[in-house]
This record gives sequence, structure tokens and C-alpha cells, in this order.
Amino acid sequence: MQTSFSCDICYCIFFSTVNGKDGLHEDKESCLFTSSESEDTVEFPLPGKRYEDIAEFLCCIYPNILKTITDNNVEVMLQLGNEFGVKKLMEKCEDFLVRKLENGNPIPHPEEIINGLCIAERYGLETLRKTSFDRAAKTESELLENVKEFWELPNVITTSVFILRLKLLENCDKKIRSKINEVNIHCSLYHKGERSTDTLCTKCFACIGKSAVSELKQVM
Ligand SMILES: [Zn+2]
Repeated sequence: MQTSFSCDICYCIFFSTVNGKDGLHEDKESCLFTSSESEDTVEFPLPGKRYEDIAEFLCCIYPNILKTITDNNVEVMLQLGNEFGVKKLMEKCEDFLVRKLENGNPIPHPEEIINGLCIAERYGLETLRKTSFDRAAKTESELLENVKEFWELPNVITTSVFILRLKLLENCDKKIRSKINEVNIHCSLYHKGERSTDTLCTKCFACIGKSAVSELKQVM
């Protein structure tokens, strides 16, 4: 239900939060709640805002509560935090999303990675942008392509993700080729009795396989 929010009690909470020592708001000049006329009471309408969202917003910034950021409230808190200029709430939300991407097991879901890219783009969140980029570059292109929102990102971002992925794979290819050459030389010098014609001995084959798996893990 859409509820226009106008309540004296809530404004008091806003002011004690903004002006209190532990308040989250740092930039008073740009703060929607700053008043040059009265420090006690000020009223302003919040048309189009849901009561539940504003109440959640207050719980997340009020020093005595500081409600945790979760999957359920992060997007609305980013929206309200951005709208009202609550920098620390934005940082908390960004930190929550970055940790989710870093702790994805074994890797974060493609939807979450692309959501990170979209949110970073929308609110200019640099740490989230970098983490999402790194994760996207290590995700199979087919998985990214299957997420609709991926194609709604600016072309420069989708292209950069694929270029970064290509570079990682090329680098991986270079390292594996170098390892093959190195092992081949070693095997031809020291394992002559264990090789047949030009092929590597079983031990050296296994060594290359192990090295290739380890390199590929870095980009998957
Ligand atoms: Zn060998």
C-alpha cells in the first residue's frame, strides 16, 4: 500500500539521528533534513514513499538500532540512502553486496554478479564495480549472456567484461604453454628411458595436467 508519510515522531527521530554524535549522516549541508529555521521540528512530505520502507530506513540509520542490511532491504536502503544523501548507509549496503560476491560458494550466482554491476553503475559504487567486474570476468560468457539484465548494461561495460575475460584466458593459455615447454625439455633430458618416441613420460603428463587445472581455476 502506498502511504504518504508525514509524522512528527518520525521527524524527531530523523533529527536525533542526523545531529547525534553517532548519527550516520556526515554531510549536513546536503541533508534533506537540515533546517536553518528550527532545530526542533520540521515537516516535509514524502510523497510516493511506502511507510514500511521509511520505517526500515530509520531503523538502519538510527544509532541505537542500526538494523542489519540484508537481501530483503539492501535495494530500498540504497535507493533511500542515495535520495537522502546518507553516505554511511550507502557504504554499509555496498559492503554487504561486496562481501556477498566475495563469499559466493563456490562462485556467486550470475544474477548476483550482474545485479552488482547494475547497482554499482546506478549509484557510482567503485568497490562494488571492481568486485563485480572481477567476478564477471571469471564467469562463463554463456552464463552471463543468459541473464537479461546483462544486456541492459551500457555497451562499454559488457565489452569491458568480455575483454577482461579474454585477457585472463589468454594469460592462462600462455602460462600453460610455457609449462608444457619447460616440462618437455626436462623430460627429454632426464626421463629418456621412460618416454616412448617424442611423447612425455606419464609422470610429466600428470605434472602438466595438474598445472593446467591450477591455472584454469584462477579464471573460473
Ligand atoms: Zn618425464
